[in-house]
This record gives sequence, structure tokens and C-alpha cells, in this order.
Amino acid sequence: MTSYVTHLESAIDGTHYSPGQLHTTHKDRPLWVRYDLDAIAKVLTKDKLRERPPTMWRYRELLPPGQKDSIVTLGEGMTPLIAVPRLGQQLGLSNLWVKDEAQLPTGTFKSRGQAVAISMAKELGIKRVAIPTAGNAGGAMAAYAARAGLEAYVFMPEDTPEINQFECAIAGAKVFLVNGLIDDCGRIVSAGSERMDWLSVATLKEPYRLEGKKSMGLELSEQSSWQLPDVIIYPTGGGTGLIGMWKAFQELRALGWLESESMPRMVAVQSDGCCPIVRAFEKGERFASRFENAATIASGLRVPAAVGDFMILDAIRESNGCAVAVDEKRIREWMRLAASKEGLSVGPEAATCVGAAGMLAESGWIRADDRVVIYNCGASQKYPDAMRTTLPRIDIHKPIDWERVEVGR
Ligand SMILES: *Cc1c(COP(=O)(O)O)cnc(C)c1O
Repeated sequence: MTSYVTHLESAIDGTHYSPGQLHTTHKDRPLWVRYDLDAIAKVLTKDKLRERPPTMWRYRELLPPGQKDSIVTLGEGMTPLIAVPRLGQQLGLSNLWVKDEAQLPTGTFKSRGQAVAISMAKELGIKRVAIPTAGNAGGAMAAYAARAGLEAYVFMPEDTPEINQFECAIAGAKVFLVNGLIDDCGRIVSAGSERMDWLSVATLKEPYRLEGKKSMGLELSEQSSWQLPDVIIYPTGGGTGLIGMWKAFQELRALGWLESESMPRMVAVQSDGCCPIVRAFEKGERFASRFENAATIASGLRVPAAVGDFMILDAIRESNGCAVAVDEKRIREWMRLAASKEGLSVGPEAATCVGAAGMLAESGWIRADDRVVIYNCGASQKYPDAMRTTLPRIDIHKPIDWERVEVGR
């Protein structure tokens, strides 16, 4: 196995860094990983891909690790792309699909990013990692760090869903609950860097999580026979997935693998309880201001300030996409809609995309017959509070009163 990485490149000013050494950010902004795509085109073919196991490592030439032994995996990737006609009908869309990331290790697509970040940490000889997290990234990091035998430190807001606190702790990470939001946690990780000598695997603070998330775009392309959909709807917090997919499509275009001429329009969805990217998009700005008093049950979207804001906004604009905020109060309703129409386990983050799909179909921004893909980023089971609902009761001590049992819908 060889690495096809040629260099790392600052996303803000194009400065190059050499691969094979630890580099994190440039001027506090993210780095792109760049590959020798001509060399990859010579060794990798679509036919060759077809014979490989169904994990994201089937695209290993387009991923950074250079040694097979550095790969830390729990079998992540190749999640199903599922047609959802009953949900589509409800939303006014006849060609609606869900890429079901809820089926990944730790129940969210954070496993993709952490699989690559932790693999690279291992390859570069790192022994200790730390992360500020809204919840799921910490859970995934703890799991992959455990698998790699690395020491892990997790900093999360004290009101992060309990399940996230426990999943980190049970995997052996040291978990700290912080009186503040994810960016406050980020400041603690930065402040501790020198003394604790840890690598921060915070969103876009090292270059490799982005490459893991990129695999969502590679898979979608292969699963769609290299014909990209018209619209991709993505629940946006730090934006890694949206940026990563857009990068995947550029790389596939450069490899000459895409069958379709047009690129998908990328839609970033946020809750109106925390929508810094939507505000910046609407104002025509390239950088987003911090969103004060951020509050949403979609904890993965509770990111008041994103380091990759300009990368998200660039991708949206280059793709002729848009950024929309949906009503926080309706998130549970959309979770229920997806689950009751299609049996899908849709967490509150992707539920915002269900709402946005309906909204954009109604406004005509999405045409009824457009091929639309929603990313279901996380399982609803990780959000017992958001799932809470009232159930009918049957009293087991008395004979059942069948008159009271509702039938039909
Ligand atoms: C992190 C997360 C998001 C946001 O993903 P980004 O790529 O950082 O924007 C959405 N949903 C869930 C479930 C998450 O854990």
C-alpha cells in the first residue's frame, strides 16, 4: 500500500506543507489533503473497485494512510442508499433517497472521520488525542482511540445527551463536562495542548477527518453508477461532510469517473435555533459570525462558529446550492414522519433535512422529479429525549378492554 498524498494545502491561502509529518492548521484555518490523481487514475479502475470489500477503505488510494497497518477500522462505510417513496410522496418529491449513515459504528457518520483521523494519528506516532464535541464526534473518537490503543480526552457541554457522555466513558476516554458550548470546549483543548501534548482531532483542526467524511461522496457516486443526484441535503454543523463530499466530486471529476455533466446542488440545513451558516449565506458573506445563544435538540448542529465556514459557503455557492434554516419546534415531528413512513431511524439533525426537503419542494427550488438525497447522519436511538412520546397503556392485571385498543391508522 502506498500513499498518493502529494501535499497538504492551506484552504485560506494555498500554502503547501509536506505529507508524512504532523500538520494541523495554517493561520488557524483548515488544510486540504491533495493527491496525485493522475497516478491514482493509472492504478485504480471502477472494475477493480467492484471487487473490494464494502467498507470506505475500498477507496484507499483516495484516503491518506500510507501503510496498511495504520488503518484503524470497525468496518465503517458503504451505508445503503435507500429509496423513500412514501416519505417522498408526503413531501412532494417523486425521486427521494436517503443515505443511511445511522447504520455506522457508534450510530453516526462521525465514525468515518474518526476512522481516518485516528488511523493517521497512529501512522504519525501520536499517543494521545483530545476533542471538543457536541457529542457524537466524541463517541466515535473514543471508540476508534480504544481500538488503536490511544489515550483519549473528551470535552463536551454539560448538557450533551447522556448517551454521548456514557459512550465515551465506557470506551475508556477521560470525559470532562464543560459549562459552555462546543467552542468553549475547543478553547480548553487548545489551552491544554502544550502541557498535555495531545493531538486535537477537533472538526477541521487536523486535515484527516475531512478525508473520512469525503468517503460519503465517493460512495454516493459509486452507488449511483457515477451519475450524481440533482440535490444533496445535508444537516450542517461544522460542515465537514458537505465540504468533504464537494471535494470528493471534484476528485472524481478529475479522475474522469463521473458520468453526469452537472454537479449536485448542495443544501446546508440548520435549525433556526443555531444557524450561523444560513445567516452568512443570506447576507452574501464568506465568513460567518458566531451565533449567540445557540439552542437546538439537534446537538450535532449546535455549532455556533465553524472554522470551515468559508469552505462550507464556497461549496454551497459553487454548486448553486443554498442554506436554509428550519423551525426548531418541528424537529420531533419530522423524526416521526421519517420513522413512521419508512421505518428509518432518523435523529434530530437529519430530521431538519426532511423539513427542508418539504419546504424547498413547496417553494419550487427543488422540482418534484429532481433526484434528491438526504443524509441521515445519525440514529434516533442516540436521542431518547427527542424520541420521547406518549404510548397507549394496556393494564396486564385486568382482562384487556378491547374496546379501548385503537385499530387502523
Ligand atoms: C456532527 C453531526 C452533524 C454535523 O456534521 P458536520 O459534517 O460537522 O456538519 C450532523 N448530524 C449528526 C448526527 C452529527 O453527529
